[in-house]
Amino acid sequence: MTGFLIFGHLMYSWLFRRTPHKEAILVESRIKPQRLIDSLATLGRIGETPQGMMRLAFSPADLAGRKYVTDLMKSGGMTIRIDSAGNLIGLKTGDNPALPSIAIGSHTDTVPNGGKYDGSLGVLAAIECINTMKDLSITTRHNLEIIDFTNEEGTGYGRWLYGSRAMTGLLEDGDLSAIDENGIPIGSRLQDVGGDVRRIHESERQPNDFAAYLELHIEQGPVLHSSGIPIGKVTGITGRIALEITIRGFANHAGTTPMSGRRDALLSAAKIIQAVNTIATDEEICRVGTVGIARISPGADNVIPGRATLSVEFRDENIKPMLDAEIRITQLCQQEARMSKVEITISRIGITKPSPMDSNIQKIIDEAAHNQQLETRSLPSGAGHDAQSMSTLTPSGMIFVPSIDGISHSPNEYSSPESCAIGANVLLSTLLTIDRQF
Ligand SMILES: [Zn+2]
Repeated sequence: MTGFLIFGHLMYSWLFRRTPHKEAILVESRIKPQRLIDSLATLGRIGETPQGMMRLAFSPADLAGRKYVTDLMKSGGMTIRIDSAGNLIGLKTGDNPALPSIAIGSHTDTVPNGGKYDGSLGVLAAIECINTMKDLSITTRHNLEIIDFTNEEGTGYGRWLYGSRAMTGLLEDGDLSAIDENGIPIGSRLQDVGGDVRRIHESERQPNDFAAYLELHIEQGPVLHSSGIPIGKVTGITGRIALEITIRGFANHAGTTPMSGRRDALLSAAKIIQAVNTIATDEEICRVGTVGIARISPGADNVIPGRATLSVEFRDENIKPMLDAEIRITQLCQQEARMSKVEITISRIGITKPSPMDSNIQKIIDEAAHNQQLETRSLPSGAGHDAQSMSTLTPSGMIFVPSIDGISHSPNEYSSPESCAIGANVLLSTLLTIDRQF
């Protein structure tokens, strides 16, 4: 058996050395799982605390993480640059530098008490792809740009997807002048990672700079883990509409005011909270609806609440269901205001449009997985990603791998070494196919 295997291997190498059949070599290309797992473990020790990962954007741990990524990129033969938004970019020149780049990226900042895989897997797997290509002497036609985006999580300033929004021209005025709770302007923190807020527009790229963008990420939800499917091809990143609903009733003595005459703002708020849930469940108007914050005033145990403020958000893969949910909650609030004699105001805090992923790239991901005998499942991303910014500029695709028990943004976030390696192999194969076809 062994002899046959050695013979087979020799025949195989001979065949491909004599007739370099590119298709076959590309299908056979596999990353080195241990090298990827080692780099995940090393990055996972930078900013690690007993309460989870604390590699918050712009923190000393974030800088140390980026330094580690820089060193990995350098040893992979990439040329490093940091753009004016602080994005860390490793360039691997292609055979035809006149072609637009294929970008592969994610982020290495974490939420407070976060996990070791969110973002990190995407960046480190992209570097592993470059290392594998180096091992196998595979070159690409296109330039490859590996991007570790600045401040994806938006910790501190509430300004998330910072680097990718800068790169795609999606920054808003407040993004440049934001000040954190310690009074430090974002411009000064940006300088710490090599950016420059005064020249931030220089980080903007144009559609013809890129042929495609790819991102490997943990699912951060339960679908793949519970179904036992190793690869998710993301159909789109859900949009989000955020509302603030304020209910004004009348604060009064909790002992002397009869039940019939009360204008209890919290009681109306409770009905609205239930309605938000019903809109996304029984009524199936949009995918998810959540009330994350409820503030009650005056907030004393012997006073009927006179005022309640709720944060409400609806998310969906398409914009119409989000807008329909907003219309529905507005109708229900008007009804409640009439019935309970309270005043209700609704203000829209913001809207992020859904970002569809490129259908052609979804097909390529599917083929890449099937060539490796891996089952795939189409699913939307409920969380936001740098890919949503990049998709406004260039055809974009996302590959998901299972998150154990669907847990993320937690120290318990975990994806198995096998899942990470499988995801990286599908990323590599997708990348090489795009390089040939685009
Ligand atoms: Zn992420």
